[in-house]
Amino acid sequence: MKTHQFTDALLESDPFDFSQKSKDLFLKSFKENALHHYKSHEFTQKLWDRLEFDPEKLNSENDLKNVPGTMVHLYKEHEFCSVPKEDLVLILTSSGTGGQKSQQFLNQESLDNVKRLAYTIHQSLGMADSRKYNYLCFTYDPKEANDLGTAFTDELLTNFTGKNEVYYAIQWNEELKEFELNEKGMLETLKRFEASDIPTRILGFPALLFELITKNNLTLNLGKESWLQTGGGWKGKAEKEIPKKEFRNLILKRLGIPLNHQRDLFGMVEHGIPYVDCSEGNLHIPNYARVYVRSPKDLSLLPKGERGLLHFMCSYNFSYPAPSLLTTDYGRLGSCTCGIQGDTLILEGRAGISKHKGCAIKALDFIKV
Ligand SMILES: [Zn+2]
Repeated sequence: MKTHQFTDALLESDPFDFSQKSKDLFLKSFKENALHHYKSHEFTQKLWDRLEFDPEKLNSENDLKNVPGTMVHLYKEHEFCSVPKEDLVLILTSSGTGGQKSQQFLNQESLDNVKRLAYTIHQSLGMADSRKYNYLCFTYDPKEANDLGTAFTDELLTNFTGKNEVYYAIQWNEELKEFELNEKGMLETLKRFEASDIPTRILGFPALLFELITKNNLTLNLGKESWLQTGGGWKGKAEKEIPKKEFRNLILKRLGIPLNHQRDLFGMVEHGIPYVDCSEGNLHIPNYARVYVRSPKDLSLLPKGERGLLHFMCSYNFSYPAPSLLTTDYGRLGSCTCGIQGDTLILEGRAGISKHKGCAIKALDFIKV
């Protein structure tokens, strides 16, 4: 049943086409989505009424900038949902260590939408492939943790190519009743993949991979057909963070993965749009979203290139009322010379030090230094 025609049309369109027609499609889709949440979610309705924002008045690209951002911490403190609970097919959780969990509620339509947009974004960036790969995922085994954001993402990403073996490094220990990182298993797996004729794709946290390589003085040649897809940032290991360019060169030297096959991904459980590196290593913003940068002082809009708080907008999710999400992440908008249209997203850290720990932190807790 197709009930949201503009959103369906948007997700059929090229994610990096920023022609007037495509931009209008995002506007129409966003309006369709905003009206749904306004009518179906009491908190959103009351908030927007109080701020005198009327979603019916979303009639130009410029109007999008007037949509109030809902603070990300509200989604950690409340269960916000715009459909009856029995319609939900998946609840994604980011496992915070400080007791603050983020959840995203997905009905079938929204789940189909997010899977579809993730695929078209990766395909447009040259990352989808019908040939088979061996996967090493530095995350939770989805058989045990399918509702965790990172496990969901990794399982999703492995579906964009053919699959041979998939190895999940964070495994459930039945005796201890907790997850643990199987470092020995990862090293054995990498060596097995190196010897295989099938190319490798590594999905994981950059800090974890960095420590695995340096601690074990690892030098392998996975071959020029292999890929590295990172995500989750260096959170919790920020003091060890090395510049992206240096990291990419290290991966080339120590794993033999070409620079243009090393792609980082930024995503948030509450937002769901993947921002993915192009071959030059810049995170591109698709036409399925808008990213605004706001002053931390008064939330006024900052011009391109200036550093401020990131405000994310999306339209694909009809079960989770987060079309306009104001985060505590700092960043700015940039440009890229790779030929893909649109702005790039440059991340510049988090406002407040350790307030909102996500699943990345939880996984990084496994690193024993
Ligand atoms: Zn680019």
